[in-house]
Amino acid sequence: MKTIGNWVGGRTEPGDSGRGGPVYDPARGVQIAEVGFSSPAQVDAAVRSAVDASGPWAASPLGRRADLLFRLRELVLKHRKDLAATVTTEHGKVLADAEGEVSRGLECVDFACGVPHLLKGSFSSEVATGVDVHTVLYPVGVVAGITPFNFPVMVPLWMLANAVACGNTFVLKPSEKDPSASLMLAELVQKAGFPDGTVNVVQGDADAVEALLGHRDVNAVSFVGSTPVARHIYETGTRNGKRVQALGGAKNHMVVLPDADVDMAADAAISAGYGSAGERCMAISVVVAVGDVADRLVGAIADRIPQVVVGPGQDPASMMGPLITRQHRDRVRSYVEAAAHEGARVVVDGSQAKAGDGFFLGCSLVDDVKPGMHVYDEEIFGPVLSVVRVSNFDEAVDLVNSNAYGNGVALFTRDGGAARRFEREVSVGMIGINVPIPVPVAFHSFGGWKASLFGDSAIYGPDGIRFYTRPKVVTSRWPDGHQSGVDLGFSTNG
Ligand code: NAD
Repeated sequence: MKTIGNWVGGRTEPGDSGRGGPVYDPARGVQIAEVGFSSPAQVDAAVRSAVDASGPWAASPLGRRADLLFRLRELVLKHRKDLAATVTTEHGKVLADAEGEVSRGLECVDFACGVPHLLKGSFSSEVATGVDVHTVLYPVGVVAGITPFNFPVMVPLWMLANAVACGNTFVLKPSEKDPSASLMLAELVQKAGFPDGTVNVVQGDADAVEALLGHRDVNAVSFVGSTPVARHIYETGTRNGKRVQALGGAKNHMVVLPDADVDMAADAAISAGYGSAGERCMAISVVVAVGDVADRLVGAIADRIPQVVVGPGQDPASMMGPLITRQHRDRVRSYVEAAAHEGARVVVDGSQAKAGDGFFLGCSLVDDVKPGMHVYDEEIFGPVLSVVRVSNFDEAVDLVNSNAYGNGVALFTRDGGAARRFEREVSVGMIGINVPIPVPVAFHSFGGWKASLFGDSAIYGPDGIRFYTRPKVVTSRWPDGHQSGVDLGFSTNG
């Protein structure tokens, strides 16, 4: 059985905790590798390696950092198919989707290549006679990144690219369910020429995370994962004096107004609801049908479901791959069964697995869903679309705003005024107008509201630069023989 190790100080090391986890090929339902977890001592070694690299890296010229990031960009581009194939093998998503993930991660490297511009700081000349003020952005030091299973390339790149661009060193703890891509990225970082220790990878579960959260030399923590863990990371990390951004789960609504293009909305619901088997934090999980659009819309979505080809991610004909584990597949299936008992109407039941041992499910569509039902209240993270029927725009906005999460939301309409009102009234961080998955491009920032984000900072883009830097504000006056003299007064702006 293949064993997957850690990456400390520029070389692989087997996990030394005596614990490990199975890595599956979800399309076949068989274990293909074992990942060896890091002990707290190995986590400490990774952090120490990051600390050792930190001083020289923080002092490295901006042009050199940009040069290395450009080289990393070229290497990720060159190896994008290998990275995507690894993601498909361990995660299960179809190859085209995995390649899309690599491209979206690469955008964050592109953005970070502009680091000389991004770290320009600011300067105010002559704030008082002979006095200037400038703000300089310094790195925070060692940054830990803890990432979820559903984007094993993109989410680490959300963090890693900006963190190192800003002069920090980085310790990544990827998901134990699909850990190989993290090591491939670490090797590419080394190949690009980054000094050893700039990027390290420790493997493991909660134990490795606790070792990072309790480590005095970890100064900042970026987390992406489920809401209960995000809350825990935020509370523990901040209690330990660290800067923390913790992105959590989601329940994303797609509101469809009566004037919407129903075909366009149905296509979007299928793509955003069932793409990557619903295992995206920006997946649409609730369609909110407003007024008389409901029957037409539910019919149009149901008509399209048989066209979704479910199969192994390596097969170019497949549109939707398996779920990540058998337990998760069974959990998703249980929501569809529960929905029927709670009074919802199961229009399409995809809960029967395909033949074979893979962790497959088909697409499910559940109508007449209401708040209070498990299928509505909880994040399912699978190919299950709920339809909630409401009678008007205000009810739709109230529904969205009453939800505990606030990651993404979409509105489908032809009415610009309604779209503008929607944008102003919803309590959600990322909004799509006739765009079902409004993941911001890398030069904006990604982050939800409410239980979808703990901390003050969204991730990547300008917020990423702010999160990974600490400002120093310098007020300076240079001696000038013509103007010097004793003055006991309080300095003024004159
Ligand atoms: P998860 O919360 O189970 O795991 C995320 C990371 O935390 C993993 O590295 C895992 O090893 C670690 N972890 C798990 N339990 C822990 C614990 N008790 N203490 C400390 N660390 C722990 O999430 P997942 O199942 O890997 O990913 C799916 C979740 O991530 C979904 O809820 C999804 O919505 C969310 N997600 C959110 C975003 C976003 O940007 N908001 C993006 C992707 C995924």
